[in-house]
Amino acid sequence: MANFSKTAPAPAAAPVLSVPARSIIERLTDSHGRTIHDLRVSITDRCNYKCVYCRTGEVGPQYPELGIEEYLRLIRLFVDLGITKVRLTGGEPLLRHGLLDLIRELRRLRTLWDEPLDLALTTNGHLLDSLAEPLKAAGLNRVTVSMDAVDAATFERITRVPGSFQTVLHGVRAARAAGLTPLKINCVLLRGFNDNEIEGFARFAREEDVVVRFIEFMPLEEGRLWSPEIVVPLKEIVDRISRADIPPLVEVPLREPSETARRYTFADGVGEIGIIAPVSQAFCGACSRVRLTSDGKIRTCLFSQVEHDLYGRLRAGAPVNELREYIVYTVKGKEARHHIGEPGFLKPSRSMVHIGG
Ligand code: SAM
Repeated sequence: MANFSKTAPAPAAAPVLSVPARSIIERLTDSHGRTIHDLRVSITDRCNYKCVYCRTGEVGPQYPELGIEEYLRLIRLFVDLGITKVRLTGGEPLLRHGLLDLIRELRRLRTLWDEPLDLALTTNGHLLDSLAEPLKAAGLNRVTVSMDAVDAATFERITRVPGSFQTVLHGVRAARAAGLTPLKINCVLLRGFNDNEIEGFARFAREEDVVVRFIEFMPLEEGRLWSPEIVVPLKEIVDRISRADIPPLVEVPLREPSETARRYTFADGVGEIGIIAPVSQAFCGACSRVRLTSDGKIRTCLFSQVEHDLYGRLRAGAPVNELREYIVYTVKGKEARHHIGEPGFLKPSRSMVHIGG
């Protein structure tokens, strides 16, 4: 655990732009030949839901949060190394005070190619109804909303929050109306738990004009729930939708090699679903991501066993060029792949809610 307080003031030293911003033209690459252009930043590990497959319900936030200005400093370092896409996450990022300020500042940044960042956010949607418009006005491009059921009772059993289904549905509609699109809905499937929602989600995608993405359950929960049998693999999802009373699925070609979802439309062109299969069809070879935790540690893989204390170095007053070098060096060591389901697999040191999904 980092030895700084939750409200640690910004360090006096470490001017952010002491090195001309575009003096480094080296892009972030790892030792496996992958270019890293996608940064996920957790801005809190607090969450207002206790989804049963993610959290035990007994553990609260575990890690400190940085000041908004500090996240900004850290993100700038990555952008100056070629990051083009930033996704804010948590915990629940909409709980975070200062979020709109952060988005406004991120909107002003330019990539190495002098373009605006692709700015996205992942949320449980609980606070989205009132925040959708301000988020869009601040400069956010789009949101992904997590929903694990379209049946209200099942949804509320999962989140453990009464009334949550209607609240999130309003949030989804508000986000779409505000133009936070393409609006994606992420659904984690667990066998015998919510796999009977697959056909309902396919209809939901068509009716609500959203992209529903099914995600295979990974061993990243706080408790000990994961087993290979609980994972609902891609093929089974496709087969089930194909048997439902809905127009047939048509696979869409990949837009870029690092795309994690297999995408499908329906034969009548209405609606889209995606399937993210990190377990049954791992896509590590095309991974373009790196993560920053709420306490400012770099994680080069969801399943990393070690973290790299970037914030500690910033706080200690390291100059910008040294911080950049540290990022370059750390990313070089990115893991080749995860080892889910293999003998000797070790769960990572943090669970999903504390890493930032
Ligand atoms: N609170 C936000 C939300 O609900 O989207 C962001 C954080 S949440 C941890 C990010 C995503 O991780 C959610 O879509 C959640 O369903 C997913 N997730 C959590 N545990 C997971 C697991 N073990 N395997 C796969 N996805 C998981």
